[in-house]
Amino acid sequence: LFITLEGPDGSGKTTQIKKVAEYLRKHQVNFIQTREPGGTNISDKIRALVLDPEHKEMHDLTEVLLYAASRAQHVHEKIIPALEEGKVVLCDRFVDASLAYQGFGLGVGEERVLQVNNIATSGLVPHRSYFVDVSPQVGKERMKARYGTENLDRIEQKDLSYHERVREGFAQIFSRQADRIVRINGEQSPDAVFEEIVKDLDQLLSN
Ligand code: C5P
Ligand code: MG
Repeated sequence: LFITLEGPDGSGKTTQIKKVAEYLRKHQVNFIQTREPGGTNISDKIRALVLDPEHKEMHDLTEVLLYAASRAQHVHEKIIPALEEGKVVLCDRFVDASLAYQGFGLGVGEERVLQVNNIATSGLVPHRSYFVDVSPQVGKERMKARYGTENLDRIEQKDLSYHERVREGFAQIFSRQADRIVRINGEQSPDAVFEEIVKDLDQLLSN
């Protein structure tokens, strides 16, 4: 079972993934928790490169390919082996994030981003994805409250219109794949968000 959490920056998905992990531990589910970009040594190095606020000159296609390269290593070194051992894999972001951020946000286009990522993942698709949805304004306020404006990464620093396109991208992806993706209103309290995740997760685990 491969489960991902998605959402715009400041959606609170990192808080939620911690809660989900705690829940799985309590229920003695054999699982691993991981994240993107990152999750392996090589992928974490690519993460640092792609998120470095100094790299203002990074070409959009370079960004697409770096996320995909990070993902290829992550999928083949870590995710697929864990799934083959029968573990549940809980992952913070996956291909949907690239479709939303690079496909819609940068305007590279969903088709091209999907093509590259199909190669990177050998076609691996999550069984369930929780899309924690917040408006870019709310997301930005939460991030500012959390780290101040100086410590935002290269993507978080982009303007509100970019983040609007990302959110719109997530919404479109969700509306087309509502059988795989569960949308949750991320502007509720963290406990209310978690409750909605658990309701679905319980069903998933009992099947
Ligand atoms: O999930 P997290 O916020 O740690 O992601 C790190 C950064 O990478 C975020 O700023 C996010 O916007 C960005 N990102 C991206 N494209 C992806 C995945 C993450 O721009 N495909
Ligand atoms: Mg973030």
